[in-house]
Amino acid sequence: RAKSRGRNRFEFFTETLQSEIVRRKKVADDILAGLENDQFTVFYQPQFDANTLEIAGVEALVRWNHPTEGLLTPDAFLSSAEELNVVSTLDRLVLEQALVSFERWNRAGLMIPRISVNVSGRRLRDEELVDSLRRLDIRPGTVSFELLESIFLDDTDDHVSWNLDRLKELGIDIEIDDFGTGYASIVSLMKLQPRRLKIDRQLTQPIVKSARQRQLVESIAEIGKTLGIEVVAEGVETMAHARILRKIGCTKLQGYAFGRPMSAAAFEDYVRAQSWRAAS
Ligand code: C2E
Ligand code: MG
Ligand code: MG
Ligand code: MG
Repeated sequence: RAKSRGRNRFEFFTETLQSEIVRRKKVADDILAGLENDQFTVFYQPQFDANTLEIAGVEALVRWNHPTEGLLTPDAFLSSAEELNVVSTLDRLVLEQALVSFERWNRAGLMIPRISVNVSGRRLRDEELVDSLRRLDIRPGTVSFELLESIFLDDTDDHVSWNLDRLKELGIDIEIDDFGTGYASIVSLMKLQPRRLKIDRQLTQPIVKSARQRQLVESIAEIGKTLGIEVVAEGVETMAHARILRKIGCTKLQGYAFGRPMSAAAFEDYVRAQSWRAAS
C-alpha cells in the first residue's frame, strides 16, 4: 500500500511538473507572439517634488496587452521574459515608446522635466546600448535610468562600469531603484554617484506605524543629503504618508496618493488637470 501511495504521489508530482512545464511553454510562446504583434505597451506614473508639489518627472512602466488575459503588470511576465532572454528587447521598446510620449507631451506644452525608465542588468550589459543611445540625441538631465542594486553586486564587470560612464557622458541620470532591499554597499554607492535613490515601498510604508522605521528612512535621507543624492520615496499611498516623508527629508514622492500608472493618453489628461489646478 505504501508503495502504491508513493507511486501516486510521484504521479501527482510529475503531473504538476508537467502542467507547470506546459504553462511556462505557453507563457514563453505568448511573450514571443506578443513582441511580434506589438502587445507590449508603456504606462506612466507621475513623481512629485515633495516641497513644491509640482510634477518632477514620470516613470515608464511596461505593461502587456494580453489578447485573452487583459492588461498584465510585470510580475506576470518579467521573470519569464528574463528566462527567454528578451528583457533587453522589452527595455529597448519601453525606452523608445517612452521617449516618443515624452517628446509629444513636451511639444504640447506639458513641461514634464524628466522621464525615468527601468533598465535591466542585461540591457546594461548590451554592447550596442551606448551607440543606440548616442543616436537618440537625448537632452542632458531629461532621461533617467532606474537600476536595481543587484546590478552592482558584480564589481568586476568592466563592461557595466564602462557603459555607466558613457551614460553619464550622454547626460543620462543614474538612479538606484528599490533602494534598501538589495545589497549595495555605501562604498559602491559613492563610487557610482547616482543622481537619485528610490527607497522601496517595503521601507517607506511602515513609517506610518513605526517610529523606528521612520528613523531608518530619515537616516537614508540623511545619507542622500550628505552625498548630494536626491531621495525619492516609492509607494506613497496617502497624503498623511506624503507629509511624513517630506518632513523626514525625502525630496521626491511617487505613489497611488498622487496617481497610479496610466496610459500615455490618460497621463496627458492627468497632467493637464494638475496644471489647471495649480494655476487656479
Ligand atoms: P519599480 O520600478 O520599483 O516600480 C514601482 C512599482 O510599484 C510599479 O509596479 C508601480 O505600479 C507600483 N506602485 C507605484 N506606486 C505604488 C503605491 O503607492 N502602492 C503600491 N502598492 N504600489 C505602487 P509595476 O508597474 O507592476 O512594476 C513592477 C516592477 O517591474 C518595477 O518596480 C520594475 O522593477 C519592473 N519593471 C517595470 N517596467 C519595467 C521595464 O520596462 N523594464 C524592466 N527591466 N523592468 C521593469
Ligand atoms: Mg522603477
Ligand atoms: Mg522601485
Ligand atoms: Mg520594484
